[in-house]
Amino acid sequence: MHTEAAKEVIYLDNNATTAVAPQVFEAMVPYLTEFYGNPSSAYSFGQRVRGSLEHARERVAALINADPKEIFFTSCGTEADNAAIASALQTTGKKHIVTTQVEHSAIMNQCEGLEKQGYGVTWLPVNSEGLLDLGELERAIRPDTAIVTIMWANNETGVIFPIEEIAKICKAKGVLFHTDAVQTPGKISIDVKAAGVDFLSLSGHKLHAPKGVGVLYVKRRTKFLPYLIGGGQERGKRGGTENVASIIGLGRAAELARETLIDEQTRVRALRDRFENTLLERLPYLYINGNREQRLPNTSNIAFDFVEAEAILMRLDMKGICASSGSACTTGSLDPSHVLSAMGLTPARARSCVRFSFSHYNTDKDIDYALDVIPPIIEQLRKMSPLGPDHPDNDKYDVAAAREREEKAMAETMAKINE
Ligand SMILES: *Cc1c(COP(=O)(O)O)cnc(C)c1O
Repeated sequence: MHTEAAKEVIYLDNNATTAVAPQVFEAMVPYLTEFYGNPSSAYSFGQRVRGSLEHARERVAALINADPKEIFFTSCGTEADNAAIASALQTTGKKHIVTTQVEHSAIMNQCEGLEKQGYGVTWLPVNSEGLLDLGELERAIRPDTAIVTIMWANNETGVIFPIEEIAKICKAKGVLFHTDAVQTPGKISIDVKAAGVDFLSLSGHKLHAPKGVGVLYVKRRTKFLPYLIGGGQERGKRGGTENVASIIGLGRAAELARETLIDEQTRVRALRDRFENTLLERLPYLYINGNREQRLPNTSNIAFDFVEAEAILMRLDMKGICASSGSACTTGSLDPSHVLSAMGLTPARARSCVRFSFSHYNTDKDIDYALDVIPPIIEQLRKMSPLGPDHPDNDKYDVAAAREREEKAMAETMAKINE
């Protein structure tokens, strides 16, 4: 796992995926070699694997304060998200969903697809700091609302939503509530009982377990219909032979996430803050996206005005630094991020944003290196940029100025009409 190529990389893209923890890999190996039995087989060679699988379920349950019976393993976070929504629509027979404009593509694209099939979807807006108006949520819930689905923390900006308050509103209105909590484990503490959610999604590869395994938490006594129909695996809630080794890895990762929580909230947060504050000191025309208080401790999303994020990322890549613009799932498209657009950034500013996301494995040395490399890259790109603070088009980056320009154009049009 620690090859020369991996050693040379400064990995600052931990919201896209994470390294498999060595302890996780170690826990998995026996289930890829010796213990290959099917956990559904009745003989002891299978039942031994069943025992380990159930132990992993207990560990995942402990991470979020759930009962092991409320934990179902899936193939990824996307499947968990899709399964929760699909089940709620089927069990309630209702045809309306409430969600936000800043969800991960797993929820966003599913809801867009449902809209095309005739379902109603209310897309709640966010303010310039990425925060929701809970009054607006309350007003959006209707008698025909099947489910409210709102992420716990945003993958692009790290902005955290008040899940407990949202769950209370849903409960008072008698509507199911799902939260995509894929970005939270090991970063903030999760307690499904205190939060009062009905469904919650997790993904292995965002918490130092392998790719291709996820979790759906389904609160006790909540009606649930399986998304994958097959054998009676996962007590009839998810067909398909279990991805045993990955599930066991995820169990170990869940245990590690509880241990590293303090480190993420103190040391990793301090790394992130030093990174941001130093860049803000060294470079003009930088903006941090997202509310700085209600934010994951590991995420930093920065607008570098007058420069294209894609150009920054290419130069960072040449220096061995991994970071990203928008989410990994939308890389390659030239559209600005839907999250940053929802926050009201102009398309030009949204295209200048880079997300850096840190982890337990990042060190002060990584941050020192990044802080040496980034300022000259930005200064050089700004010199080459046709735009800049003195350019007449620089208001492309300024929301207030852009609005003023639009209003002026509108006023001119109105004046012409009235002439
Ligand atoms: C990564 C991610 C997902 C998707 O998880 P996969 O396991 O990759 O399918 C869903 N939601 C959020 C917020 C994510 O960051």
